[in-house]
Amino acid sequence: MNTHLFLQKLETLKKRPSAFLPAIEAIQHWVLEFSDTLPRQRISPVKVATYANLSVEQVVPEFLYAVSEGLFDLNWEVHCPHCYGISNNYQHLSNAVGQSYCNGCEKKFQVDFALWVDATFSLNKEIDERQFIPTCSKTLPPASKSPNLPGLELIHYPTFRSLFGDQVLSEREQMQIASVTTLFTDITGSTEMYEKLGDVRAYNIVRDHFEILFKQIEKQGGTILKTIGDAVMASFIRNELALRAIMAALEQFKQYNENHQIDEHVHLKTGIHRGSAILVNLNDKLDYFGSSINKAARVQAVASSGEICFTEPLYQDAAFKQTLKELGINEMTRHSVNLKGIDGPQTVYKVVTYLDKMLL
Ligand SMILES: [Zn+2]
Repeated sequence: MNTHLFLQKLETLKKRPSAFLPAIEAIQHWVLEFSDTLPRQRISPVKVATYANLSVEQVVPEFLYAVSEGLFDLNWEVHCPHCYGISNNYQHLSNAVGQSYCNGCEKKFQVDFALWVDATFSLNKEIDERQFIPTCSKTLPPASKSPNLPGLELIHYPTFRSLFGDQVLSEREQMQIASVTTLFTDITGSTEMYEKLGDVRAYNIVRDHFEILFKQIEKQGGTILKTIGDAVMASFIRNELALRAIMAALEQFKQYNENHQIDEHVHLKTGIHRGSAILVNLNDKLDYFGSSINKAARVQAVASSGEICFTEPLYQDAAFKQTLKELGINEMTRHSVNLKGIDGPQTVYKVVTYLDKMLL
């Protein structure tokens, strides 16, 4: 290993104005401590974070900057769901394929991007010519899945999108995602607002609204998938992050409204749902498709102004309910509703945010 080059590149990393030095030092110690062993050849940021008593969110961005400095290579590792051995390994998402084959188990399987693809980092071969070779291991049962960084989590990092936003699946490829949280918001009465205020004034308000919302979504590790008119669609790794994002945004809209005259007020209708999806490349961006994504939009459509509507998987999620409590929401109502394009009545839960109290 070329330790001199390794330390030199680390110094460059440390000079970045927003560099988080404890994370870079943790990476440094990890690599030097495990200089001859496997942990250094396939580094999981989760393990480094635990080792240094940092959060994963603090460590991952530094690994990503280290990749762009040529210090590490980013590996996408596909694990076999039967033996948890690595059946495939690639360094660019364009090489990802939706199906994989485990030589050890002699089984073909559908690759679920949320469950079976992990991101690890290995030293660039300029620094260490010993390269990681994926092997199938039948020795590890799935239960012993080590603390890794799921690929789905990595693509939700703003740093990933800013540095590697061009890493997308190849055009015809698609990958399953067992579950992802989708947030849908829409402005109440925006048509009336455009009519009343005129296009220019209304559009400025809509832009202010995007700015507030995008910032809070990003803060909770959410990804803006698309905007449809004034509606915003975003994905999150966990349910409570979507809730935190929307509640923080609503708090900001409350302030915004206090500083603006009544016909410029912004009120939102929100829907959140969690379900399976497929990851695809749409116009050279990662995007999600599937019935559960559509369902999030339908759930949003039954929300009234200031309401957050969500579905059964969120109601069943203890962390989500705990976050509701933490944010001071103690009441919810259960409804059986028909959602456009979805067969049979669906259970939707509603919580009312302070915005409704202002409207009443
Ligand atoms: Zn296997």
